[in-house]
Amino acid sequence: MSAVAQRIDANDAEAQELTDGFHLVIDALKLNGVDTIYGVPGIPITDFGRMAQAEGIRVISFRHEQNAGNAAAIAGFLTKKPGICLTVSAPGFLNGLTALANATTNCFPMILISGSSEREIVDLQQGDYEEMDQLAIAKPLCKAAFRVLHAADIGIGVARAIRAAVSGRPGGVYLDLPAKLFSQVMDAAAGEKSLVKVIDAAPEQIPGTKAVDRAIDLLKSAKRPLIILGKGAAYAQADDDIRALVEKSGIPFLPMSMAKGLLPDTHPQSAGAARSTALKDSDVVLLLGARLNWLLSHGKGKTWGEPGSKKFIQVDIEPKEMDSNVEIAAPLVGDIGSVVSALLARIDGDWQAPPADWVESIRSKKEANIAKMAPKLLKNSSPMDFHGALGALKNVIKERPDAILVNEGANTLDLARGIIDMYQPRKRLDVGTWGVMGIGMGFAIAAAVESGKPVLAVEGDSAFGFSGMEVETICRYNLPVCIVIFNNNGIYRGTDTDPTGRDPGTTVFVKDSRYDKMMEAFGGVGVNVTTPDALYRAVSDAMDSGKPTLINAVIDPAAGSESGNIGSLNPQSVVVRKK
Ligand code: ADP
Ligand code: MG
Repeated sequence: MSAVAQRIDANDAEAQELTDGFHLVIDALKLNGVDTIYGVPGIPITDFGRMAQAEGIRVISFRHEQNAGNAAAIAGFLTKKPGICLTVSAPGFLNGLTALANATTNCFPMILISGSSEREIVDLQQGDYEEMDQLAIAKPLCKAAFRVLHAADIGIGVARAIRAAVSGRPGGVYLDLPAKLFSQVMDAAAGEKSLVKVIDAAPEQIPGTKAVDRAIDLLKSAKRPLIILGKGAAYAQADDDIRALVEKSGIPFLPMSMAKGLLPDTHPQSAGAARSTALKDSDVVLLLGARLNWLLSHGKGKTWGEPGSKKFIQVDIEPKEMDSNVEIAAPLVGDIGSVVSALLARIDGDWQAPPADWVESIRSKKEANIAKMAPKLLKNSSPMDFHGALGALKNVIKERPDAILVNEGANTLDLARGIIDMYQPRKRLDVGTWGVMGIGMGFAIAAAVESGKPVLAVEGDSAFGFSGMEVETICRYNLPVCIVIFNNNGIYRGTDTDPTGRDPGTTVFVKDSRYDKMMEAFGGVGVNVTTPDALYRAVSDAMDSGKPTLINAVIDPAAGSESGNIGSLNPQSVVVRKK
């Protein structure tokens, strides 16, 4: 086996083949199909990265652990295999932990592997290099956390981490590997035997027949049914069955942000452009891998129309998700693939399409909204507003439906979500459940690495700043990533001032910055554009060439609104101080 570390001659007697912690971790990962690691090298995992690369694992080295962690998390979402992030101890671990917590919140399978300092010294708090009780700190922020102290337990440790990450509701797992473990030596044959290949890591979870009956009865009684597709449905990779369920049932569907493209946004049954009407007026809502959290107004309030006007069917692998915010009339616990095929089997001869007036009311609302938006998207002004610029990008994705779109920002996010149509599953990657900023470059890099397809990252100038240094990583690995920065000189807008006149306003950046120069510094292509036509041409060129590109798109500093669509979440003071 490859893990033969060295051969030593014991007292000139028999030669014994040995392995060590380094090799056992690498072999355990390879045995379980891990082909890529995202990380940042340093003590005590520098050699581990080198050796993993030498053993054929692709190792992508980042500039900051949070970005490596975000890359691992989205790799997990895209592949249904845990994405691996590798970091150094204490500070590197903490940087990666933000991404691990975010992965857990979003139900993305990921394993954060961090080196750590000597247990004996850490536990006595004697002040070791980068001393920190990492396992204790990770525990409340992820799905599971494990530490391996003996080389002979590495196989089990890696197996448990993989199974915990992908089984049931997927999530983040922490694996603590103390420095000493890496150089622990053991007999090579015993080491090989100690490895575990995880069998059926995410077992099917078949829904009960009664639960399926209950859901079908409720759907059949509906006058105004609606299907909401969430990112759990996108993750499940049951694309054909989900599409068949929607089309055979005839029920209008509404995709959550990262479920866009599961069916094309241009599909006749899409209620995307009639979102408010669909939520407010529906009477039975089938939630497919979507939670009734803040992104769906917790299933209540005026978004959802009259109190008591709604019954919910919820499909989720996590039983505890049921009734989290409102009563679920028909809970359907199981994996989405199994549940959807069970439902599909019941959409048979005596199934009746939803009433025509409901379907028609959604369709007409949708067409009116699309018609209202159309002229805004054609505006070719300079500087650009958000709509004009996004109109250009909408056309780029229409022409390249297999490109992956990464999107973060405030206005840049909220408007792009509505304007840019998606056509294929798992092509839209964004800020997810927390609405977190900083996922941009990590997601873009992993999307390019995992798919080999061109990636378009549409970034607010503020959002980009959280991971911007990774443009060097993009150039270093020569990835087909095109970054478009919507540069409006600041957060939300670029017009804030300091009332005292001393400093810049708290939400503004250096005016008229040229982010494109950052890309040029590392050998990539930088372009500055001031019109939607020029933006369209620059992005098209980048997507065709596959060269790392950064386009600085000059947006009117007055164009944005506070916090994009979620300004209402920003508390505002009503107290006026007397001077
Ligand atoms: P969105 O933000 O798109 O609404 P959420 O992240 O809120 O999506 O919800 C995703 C849900 O999908 C989670 O409750 C999660 O438990 C569930 N889920 C994830 N994978 C599966 C799966 N394979 N089968 C069933 N449910 C899943
Ligand atoms: Mg901005």
